[in-house]
Amino acid sequence: MSKHVVVIGAGVIGLCTAYYCLQRGFTVTVVERLPAQRDGTSFGNAGMIVPSHFIPLAAPGMITTALKWMWNSSSPFYIKPRLSADLIDWCLKFSRAANIEHVRRSAPLLRDLSFASRSCFEQLTTSMDYELVKKGLLMLCQNERTLEDEARTATHAKELDIPAEILNEKQTAVLDPNTRMHIVGSVYYPLDCTLTPERFLAALQANLVNAGVQFIWCGEVVDFEIEKPRRIRATMLADGNQIEADELVLCSGAWSPLLAAKLSLRIPVEAGKGYSLTLPKPRQLPSICSILTEARVAVTPMGEALRVGGTMEIAGLSQKIKPNRVRGIVNSFCRYFPDFNPSDFDDIPPWRGLRPCSPDGLPYIGRTARFDNLSIATGHSMMGLSLGPITGKLMAEVLSDSRLSHDITMLSPDRYN
Ligand SMILES: Cc1cc2nc3c(=O)[nH]c(=O)nc-3n(C[C@H](O)[C@H](O)[C@H](O)COP(=O)(O)OP(=O)(O)OC[C@H]3O[C@@H](n4cnc5c(N)ncnc54)[C@H](O)[C@@H]3O)c2cc1C
Repeated sequence: MSKHVVVIGAGVIGLCTAYYCLQRGFTVTVVERLPAQRDGTSFGNAGMIVPSHFIPLAAPGMITTALKWMWNSSSPFYIKPRLSADLIDWCLKFSRAANIEHVRRSAPLLRDLSFASRSCFEQLTTSMDYELVKKGLLMLCQNERTLEDEARTATHAKELDIPAEILNEKQTAVLDPNTRMHIVGSVYYPLDCTLTPERFLAALQANLVNAGVQFIWCGEVVDFEIEKPRRIRATMLADGNQIEADELVLCSGAWSPLLAAKLSLRIPVEAGKGYSLTLPKPRQLPSICSILTEARVAVTPMGEALRVGGTMEIAGLSQKIKPNRVRGIVNSFCRYFPDFNPSDFDDIPPWRGLRPCSPDGLPYIGRTARFDNLSIATGHSMMGLSLGPITGKLMAEVLSDSRLSHDITMLSPDRYN
C-alpha cells in the first residue's frame, strides 16, 4: 500500500502539496476547516508570479520604513502594538534578519525557487484550465528617489540573471499605451506573470478531486495523537473524528503556529493582513500588472477585471476590515492612475486575507527534527502563490526521501527551535 499523506489546509500551499504528492504515488487526504466554497488568503490575492521578488521582506531599511509608517492609519505597513510574547519575539527576529548578509544569502535561493515555480505553472497549464499571462511586471515610481532605489534593485536583479529594464515615463507608456499613469518612471521585469488565483485554485482542486484525493471539508484539526515519542499517529478533528496518517504536512497558513504549539513546536509566524478590491468593469484596463512602489499597492488585470490590493497589517488573526486602510489603497491607486476616481470603488466589497509571515521573510519547508512523520510548508508571506508549486514539489521530494531539486537548508522549520 502507498503511504498515506494527510495535508492540513487547502490553501494554495496545501493543494500544491497534495498535487505533487499524488504525482509521486502517495494516497492523499486534505483536511480543511472551511467548506469547499471558500475565499481564504489564497483566493483574493494579487495573482502575481514574481521572480522579481528576490529580496525577502526582512531587508535593510525595512525597520526604519516600518517605524515611519506605524503612525499613519492608512499606510501600507502597520504593526498593531499588543502585549504578546510571540509578537515581541517575532519583531526581534525580524530586526535581526533585516541585514545585507541575509539578503545576500537568500536572494539566489528565492530566485531559483521562483523560476522553478514559474516553470511548474507553465507545465500545469497543459493539464488544467487557467491562463498564465506572461507580460511582465512594472514597478511604477512617482518620485526620482524611489526610482533610483528601484534602479539599484534592478542592477542587483541583473547580477542574479533576472532580466530587468529601467524605464523613464515615456518608455513605460510605450509598454502600456492605453493607460494613463502619473509616474516618473518604472522598472520592468519581463519574466513576471499573472493568473487569476480563484481560477487556478478551482482548476487545481477539480484536478485533485478527479484524481482521487479525499477532501474533508469543515474538518478543523484541533489536536494530534502521538504514538511513539517521535511519531504522530492521527489528527483529531473538532467533530471527534480522527484521521490516521503515515505522513502529515502542516499547510495551515497564518494559523500554523497554533497547531504547531499542540506538538510543542515553535514556528514563528505572524499574520500579515492585506486587502483587495476587484473592479469587474474598470473604466480603463492596464495591460501589464504593476506595483505602485511608494504605496506598496499591487494592480493586476485579470481577464476583463482589475484587482487592486495591498497593505501589510500585523494585527494578530483578526479578519476585521479596517476602512482606513482600504481607503489608503484606493486613494494611492487613483494617484498613479489619474483616470480613475475613488468613487469607482464605492460598491466594491473589500476582500481580506492573512499572509503567513515568517520573521526572516523565508518560507518554512521540510521535515521537523522533533517528529519522524511531520513536515511543515508555510510562512510564504507575500509569495505564497508564486512559490506554491515549487513548495508542493519540494514537499513531495522530501516525503519520498528523494534527492532534493534545491538546497532547502535555509528553509528548515527547525531554524528557530
Ligand atoms: C492582498 C494580498 C495580495 C497578495 N498577492 C500575492 C501575489 O500577487 N503573489 C503571491 O505569490 N502571493 C500573494 N499574496 C500572498 C499569498 O496569498 C499567501 O502567501 C498564500 O495564499 C498563503 O497560502 P497558504 O496555503 O500558506 O495559506 P492559506 O491560503 O491561508 O491556507 C491555509 C488553510 O489552512 C486552513 N486551516 C487553518 N487552520 C486549520 C485547522 N486547524 N484545521 C484545518 N484547516 C486549517 C485555513 O482555513 C486555510 O484554508 C497576497 C496576499 C494578500 C493578503
